[in-house]
Amino acid sequence: MTRIAFIGLGNMGGGMAANQAKAGHRVAAFDLSQAALERAEAAGCVPTASVTEAVRDADIVITMLPAGPHVLKVYSEQIIGAAPSSALLLDCSTIDVETARRVATLARDAGYAFADAPVSGGTVAADAGTLAFMVGCDEGDFARIEAALEPMSRATMRAGDHGAGQAAKICNNMILGITMIGTCEAVALAEKLGLDPVKFFDIASKSSGQSWSVSSYYPWPGPVPTAPSNRDYQGGFATAMMLKDLKLAQEAAAKAGATTPMGAQAEALYALFDGLGHGGRDFSAMLQMLRGRLDALS
Ligand code: NAD
Repeated sequence: MTRIAFIGLGNMGGGMAANQAKAGHRVAAFDLSQAALERAEAAGCVPTASVTEAVRDADIVITMLPAGPHVLKVYSEQIIGAAPSSALLLDCSTIDVETARRVATLARDAGYAFADAPVSGGTVAADAGTLAFMVGCDEGDFARIEAALEPMSRATMRAGDHGAGQAAKICNNMILGITMIGTCEAVALAEKLGLDPVKFFDIASKSSGQSWSVSSYYPWPGPVPTAPSNRDYQGGFATAMMLKDLKLAQEAAAKAGATTPMGAQAEALYALFDGLGHGGRDFSAMLQMLRGRLDALS
């Protein structure tokens, strides 16, 4: 039986830890939140009193934490040195590339195998065990990383060396953030021109305007029944989360000297929408801001 330590049992980590327990592993779980710990226990995990207790005899350590500073602190102060050096360390949080590389160096210097392994797919995929993982790791470690992630994954892809998983994640989400705004602008224009947005879906989804934002996540209700537009933009991928990822992309672009004007515009628009109090709504609700119909959001 594999001994897994799971740190960070929030919206994503809770379901992911539950899937590891469901796969028959012993999951020692820790979160600062008592409610999260209780939910994990109900899902078959063993609650612990601290990170160090959770990782003490772990074969695999998985972290799913809010942001870079949490990850750096937890690894440098509570995991590295406390987990057996044979343990495989996997950080699935979305964080900046620089911190991911820093943690990888700290881990490697202490003799651990480490990977940044951020995910694509929201809480539904976390609960269902159908996340896509983008992995930055030493090539020789990939097979065992893939096996460790398997109970939570529908696809595990090695992006490159340490930090490459985070790079892939923020670049992917920058495309998503931009294409969603483009889709929302086009739908709002179609409406103003007297073109039925549902008819426009039929056309754009079969024409060169097609993208995931059109075909799988259309911001106008009707054509894609699973899209959050059908449920007042509740659930899905929160605007605040998209904003976090776009900020990471812009910070990375500034450091790397990359030119990302559309990414910068997208960040500014989601920041505006977030500032208007809609950070908890799905990011496709941007349509209502661009239509000038924020009143349509209940
Ligand atoms: P969340 O806030 O629901 O969960 C984070 C958990 O970490 C919380 O329960 C918190 O108590 C815990 N935590 C914080 N500091 C801790 C510490 N020092 N020790 C132990 N536990 C600690 O966030 P989430 O939605 O689960 O997201 C987690 C990560 O996954 C983020 O990096 C996010 O960007 C990424 N992500 C989220 C989604 C999504 O749709 N929610 C999708 C893809 C990626």
